Amino acid sequence: MRTNMSNLDPTFKVIDDHYRRIDHLEGAPHIKPPVEATPEGLEKELLVKANLLTEGIRFDESALEGLCSVYKEQSRWLFDWNMGEHRYYLPEELLLPMDTTCQVRENRNSDWLGTVEDGVLMIKKNGKFVIEARHVPRPEYYSKEASEGIIMRRIAPKRGQDCLVINYAPFCMYWMNNKGCSFCNIVPNMKWTKDDLQVSRRSFEQIKNTAKAAFEEGCVRHILLTGGYIKKAEKDGKMVDLEDEMILSVIQALQEGIGREDIPVNVIRTVPKDKDLKSLEKYKKLGAYSVCFNLEVWDPLLFSKYCSGKDSEQGRDQWLRGLEAAREIYGPGKVSTHFVTGFMEPEESLLEGVEWCSERGIGVIPLVWSPVRGTQYEHFRPPVAEWFVEMAKKIADIRLKHGVDAFNPAGLPNDDHLCGMPTLIADELYLRKIKRERQL
Ligand code: SF4
Repeated sequence: MRTNMSNLDPTFKVIDDHYRRIDHLEGAPHIKPPVEATPEGLEKELLVKANLLTEGIRFDESALEGLCSVYKEQSRWLFDWNMGEHRYYLPEELLLPMDTTCQVRENRNSDWLGTVEDGVLMIKKNGKFVIEARHVPRPEYYSKEASEGIIMRRIAPKRGQDCLVINYAPFCMYWMNNKGCSFCNIVPNMKWTKDDLQVSRRSFEQIKNTAKAAFEEGCVRHILLTGGYIKKAEKDGKMVDLEDEMILSVIQALQEGIGREDIPVNVIRTVPKDKDLKSLEKYKKLGAYSVCFNLEVWDPLLFSKYCSGKDSEQGRDQWLRGLEAAREIYGPGKVSTHFVTGFMEPEESLLEGVEWCSERGIGVIPLVWSPVRGTQYEHFRPPVAEWFVEMAKKIADIRLKHGVDAFNPAGLPNDDHLCGMPTLIADELYLRKIKRERQL
């Protein structure tokens, strides 16, 4: 049985029960319960996670055994975060002993290695043992058919330990004018991830069946719905917001699959273009539990340079207005934005953006930038791991000063340390919570 889980949040019970059924699964020695979290242990795990995200990790065959059968494999649900080309199935995440959930970014030149020795899955650096690791169990629903010949993993995979992810569009129309965000590989990765990639045109029935199976299995407890930008287009003689239409139809399919209207879904999308932002109310009414509009970069000049599609289509002012309006409509803990940290933005301006958002009750999620294949920064290096750890501390300080702590994962999924997003803020906020509990 997992430790600490039910104390954190009553909604963890679903996952707790799920793990109780599968802990020590026969034939899957690397599925284990976590050990009790301590501040010292979590600090070490946070630094290891920062290293794995910045340096990447390579694997030998022993660490890949059991993937796609008992352990969960990577699914390209939006981006490909690996460094360099990958040729075989990799784990989507590695779990550290106290439940720190690390996204896997393969780098075949990394000093960090995932291997099994004496039956123990472990992480080594330059040949020396660093820490034990665990695999995430492969959900049973992954192999079920959403429709004839299409497995459910390709409709909506599971991210981390508890999150169902679905993308309404594995394409982004900013790229049509060569204005995709500079750090993103959503479009180029479609060429090389065909088998892993999500089915691009998913039917209502496929989504409904997959959500039903995943929630009935009890292996997820919240949903992240995201995708690239979709332009308005003419339909039956009228201009229609296709992004809106797609998102709302996916929400409806999820509602039918789960069998209720109030589903725990966070919608990450581009900021709506309507000037009065009335569409935000419609969204809420039709089932979006929480929303996230990604600014990515705070400084206006850098925003226009590195997010030129967002800047020219919606504009930064609309982005800021949208975040403020959403905070009014959705309330605390239900509005967030991501910043790509370690990319091109200086610390000072990034923290200014964190302050602006936190003052307004908007949760900032700092992503750890990776120089991914398919971008012009492919051969660049991110800052060192310690820089990202320091940034997570500074951002947590600002967020907590304004009362923007970690919330219910349905509201702010990337604050959830079980969720596996490439950010350290969830882990830092969890560490602060454990310290508070111990009055440190
Ligand atoms: S909005 Fe930017 S980061 Fe998001 S998918 Fe489009 S290009 Fe990529």
